[in-house]
Amino acid sequence: MSRIVTGERPTGPLHLGHYFGSLAERVRLQKQGHELYLVIADYQVITDRDRAEDLPEQVLGLVLDYLAAGLDPDRTVVFTHSAVPAIHELAVAFLSLVSVAELGRNPTVKDEIAHSRQPSVNGLMFAYPVHQAADVLSLRGELVPVGADQLPHLELMRTIARRFAERYAPVFAMPQPVLSETPRLPGLDGIKMSKSRRNALALTATADEIAAGIRRARTDSIREMTYDPVARPGVARLLQLAALVTGTEPAEVAASVGDAGAAGLKALVTEAVDAFVDPMRRRRTQFTAADAVEILARGNRRAAAEAAATLDAVHRAMGMRYDGLPPASKITHRAAGRLVP
Ligand code: ATP
Ligand code: MG
Repeated sequence: MSRIVTGERPTGPLHLGHYFGSLAERVRLQKQGHELYLVIADYQVITDRDRAEDLPEQVLGLVLDYLAAGLDPDRTVVFTHSAVPAIHELAVAFLSLVSVAELGRNPTVKDEIAHSRQPSVNGLMFAYPVHQAADVLSLRGELVPVGADQLPHLELMRTIARRFAERYAPVFAMPQPVLSETPRLPGLDGIKMSKSRRNALALTATADEIAAGIRRARTDSIREMTYDPVARPGVARLLQLAALVTGTEPAEVAASVGDAGAAGLKALVTEAVDAFVDPMRRRRTQFTAADAVEILARGNRRAAAEAAATLDAVHRAMGMRYDGLPPASKITHRAAGRLVP
């Protein structure tokens, strides 16, 4: 059995992109008996905005979203960055293993900078893949179910683990990405569905919210439905979405809409998405905020203890242990005066 480590930023409710990109894989792997650790990366919220808003609601909301998606409340270790100080110390050590040029080349960071509304790029944004390496490596993650945007970060994690082994000692497991069949679900506007880009369909969305989101999606005025991603990209995206949530093919969905036009297509997609999220909405109501608080407190204790043990191994490997007396010949006169009896 392997250990899985992955997670999210507490920037909004989980959406269909999360479900098909990573959550469904987590549920599947957990059912097979693998260990699951989920980081809620509260420190990473302030990479692309000045303040993290409503953190308690956002964080507890994510815990409930996990449970709603089918993760086991007794076996999932959920923790926040801010409760596991060893992660951040490890990130400092890791920063010394990565060049500034490497950080600047990361395509996902470049894309996120392009979409951020900040007037300048802060240091945490630039370095967050290193921070993320500390999330996974501190907990000795072996499998990391993620969307395609995370692949450059996984590569960096592996590079850091390898460089640490070459320079000091082989302390870390070598993490492997696990990609789903839908590693990059587009949003209603065609770019990657994201919590922060107002183009997402949340797993907790009501029927009205789903209808409103799908109503905004661009289509065209040709009544006869055909699946043609090149000539009819907006229509094709909705057909793909309906096919995904109903487990069919886009062309089959097109055939069933026939000549009912964009309105017919949107009605079908709205109903299909609503039926798909309904069991998750219901499961979510079986848990309370108090359940989420308790699960998080337990997860925080467990993750903090494990990451602290990893950090201890890192300190040893880097020679940062000062509880044994060094040989007298190796210490300065001033230090010798204090250290040698
Ligand atoms: P934000 O816009 O605040 O960055 P996000 O929607 O991008 O939020 P993250 O918390 O950054 O979500 O990502 C969490 C995980 O979900 C990552 O593994 C990411 O690859 C995956 N993921 C997010 N969006 C999608 C998507 N549209 N398709 C597939 N996977 C996705
Ligand atoms: Mg993101």
